[in-house]
Amino acid sequence: MSLEDFFQCFQISCQGATSITTFAVFLCDKIEPALRRAVYEGTAKDIAEDMRGRFPDFQGNRANLEVCILRYLAEQENFEYFKWYLRSPKQFCESYIETRVRNYCLDGSRMLWMFLDSCLDHLYRNILSAVSSSTRAVKDRKDRKDKVSLWLDEFCRQLTEVLSLPRSDLKGIEHQEVTDIEFLSSAMAEALDDLRERLMKELASSDFSSFSRQPHTILAEHFSGCWAQCPFCGAVCTNTMQNHDGDHQVVFHRPQALMGAMWPGTDQLVIDICSSLVTTKLKFTLDNTKLIPYKRYREAGHPYSTWNILPDPSMQAYWKWFVSHFRTQLEALYNGKFQGKGEIPEAWGSFTKQEVLSDLDKYSPCPQKRRNKRCSKIPTAFYDFLHKIKLR
Ligand SMILES: [Zn+2]
Ligand SMILES: [Zn+2]
Ligand SMILES: [Zn+2]
Repeated sequence: MSLEDFFQCFQISCQGATSITTFAVFLCDKIEPALRRAVYEGTAKDIAEDMRGRFPDFQGNRANLEVCILRYLAEQENFEYFKWYLRSPKQFCESYIETRVRNYCLDGSRMLWMFLDSCLDHLYRNILSAVSSSTRAVKDRKDRKDKVSLWLDEFCRQLTEVLSLPRSDLKGIEHQEVTDIEFLSSAMAEALDDLRERLMKELASSDFSSFSRQPHTILAEHFSGCWAQCPFCGAVCTNTMQNHDGDHQVVFHRPQALMGAMWPGTDQLVIDICSSLVTTKLKFTLDNTKLIPYKRYREAGHPYSTWNILPDPSMQAYWKWFVSHFRTQLEALYNGKFQGKGEIPEAWGSFTKQEVLSDLDKYSPCPQKRRNKRCSKIPTAFYDFLHKIKLR
């Protein structure tokens, strides 16, 4: 017990019957930090849950989110975003989620305040109902003189799921003699009302810096899993478990030029995908010295040995469009050329963005029918919204 608490408890004992109000104020001072913490924790969860229900990006699994991110990237057509996504997919994904949360909560509509207010409101109601049910449980106990102590037992028990308010912190006031337990109840209601007013004013000016656990962190946790990238093309392992057993695997490998791969001894970028190269007699360079056949890529050691690259010639139209659309930027970035073995097929340049995006839907793990239905429910507003988002 702090000296200040001790003094207050002493005061409460000395004042006798008139001290019930002081008692209520003391108890509310104890409730305040716990309530504040509960409001922020609850709000963070509420926001994450609300967004998972409301935004198609967050309604499915990570594979679905990835398709949404690819769609966003194509719509933005900003090479810097692509570069960031290809190199640090996890970081990009987290930042994407954070941006969406910020846009949703901190734009002109005061969403954050609405979430905080409604969370405070339901916690306040819980505390209020704990006050009345504790009073009901104790007031007729004529057999006991330590009614206040009983009342506090009941009050803390009722709130265990709601707030962290240890009964032991309230030892100092438990010996208070209160005959009129109903008066205690109304004094508490009044003190709680003041506390609520005070917190509401405080919350009105708060932003995400007040949260100990950010809403976007909670939302991002839902999309965790393995983030290993294919050592050739950078595609992200699709396993939903972090540190999973067995090899890393992806459904679609990408043209290796995305990561800057070049044919041994040349500056010609590799436009082929890993899953077709593993069926050929072709080789790749390891550490600029050793030549290793794609067929026996595991011999290149870690991280190659931890990947299971199944033969599959199918390449998503998306990456054909991307390579052809950003060829100049890719050549400059990696100091390579789309020439010779790296010559981009003419057909790659004929895809329109719209074709590429519908192709993405076809491959998407979230079935096209479902996606279309969902998208028609949230018509153009969602796409306008997407366009408005600017990542950092
Ligand atoms: Zn809540
Ligand atoms: Zn690959
Ligand atoms: Zn993996």
